Amino acid sequence: SKERHLTGIRRFMRTGTQQQPRNGLRFNGRHRDGYEFPIEMSFGVVRRPDGSFRFTGIIRDVTALVDAESSKSRQLGELAHRQRLLSVGEMASGLAHELNQPLLAICLQADVAAQTFGDALEHDAPSESAANVVTIDRSAASGLQSSLTEIATQAERASRVIRSVRGLIRREEASRTSVSLAKIVTDVLPICEHCCHLGGVRLIVNVSENLPNVVVEEILIGQVVANLVQNAVTAMQESGTDAGLVEVCAELIGDEFVEVTVRDSGDGFSPDIAASLFDKFFTTRSDGLGLGLAICRSIVERQGGNIRAETAPDGGAMFKFTLPVNNVV
Ligand code: ADP
Repeated sequence: SKERHLTGIRRFMRTGTQQQPRNGLRFNGRHRDGYEFPIEMSFGVVRRPDGSFRFTGIIRDVTALVDAESSKSRQLGELAHRQRLLSVGEMASGLAHELNQPLLAICLQADVAAQTFGDALEHDAPSESAANVVTIDRSAASGLQSSLTEIATQAERASRVIRSVRGLIRREEASRTSVSLAKIVTDVLPICEHCCHLGGVRLIVNVSENLPNVVVEEILIGQVVANLVQNAVTAMQESGTDAGLVEVCAELIGDEFVEVTVRDSGDGFSPDIAASLFDKFFTTRSDGLGLGLAICRSIVERQGGNIRAETAPDGGAMFKFTLPVNNVV
């Protein structure tokens, strides 16, 4: 740019015309200490009676201005990013809505087809109207039947993913109520008992009646508890423990938070995946979706709490989440 500048000046002295504007030119200047910094220059030129030129230049250090501009453009970039996320969220929610119906239809039709086919195979008798009979050998037939079942299973899985994603990106807030944890747990207890019963696991509940209230989306917090209990039961089934135990406790931590702990006597998790457990689509289970804990986290954080996983002294998993206490009396 130094060369360009000299060429410009020479041209000006020759022709009296200039190509660059005279004000507000931005350059990188070299400070006397050697480093470069942004400057803005304005030129003035006077032609003297003897024909020579007299140049004046005003140089301004615009470091602060340039910093402010770039932080402004960073802010704008962040804003645009947030808006993009928002519209991606809306699109995902719309897609989920549109895809759910056809997927359920696929499940249903594949189920019906598999069933009909199964029934037809059982009735071994050859059809009387021989003219219309298409013969398929038995192994091809059972292959077809298991394909149909697989179609139904996969479509059902896809529709489960979609339902969960919709839960995750739900942005409108359900109404919050001031409620005791004891009530939340009592309301969701039948579901927890049922899944413990199915998994052959003993359930212990230890929630004191006189905990302060929390202001939360009650149903969703119930869903978090049920989800953690379900995970605990699954973990114990995987570990093959026969004296499985799940314990749900709630206690006051300091005077600002209540904490709920769901603890199990399974094999726990290895410490190197502890940080990933709550990530979307993280799973170690062959039929897992990896959305359960991600949804739990999004629900808990939305209420101003947080959730974490720890290893219990006996090696089992211990999931804890906190909720802020309702201090407004
Ligand atoms: P999914 O159950 O579909 O895998 P989750 O988000 O519910 O999805 O769980 C993510 C992962 O966290 C599981 O795959 C499992 O590795 C681990 N995990 C969750 N709960 C437990 C538990 N009680 N004990 C051990 N590991 C668990």
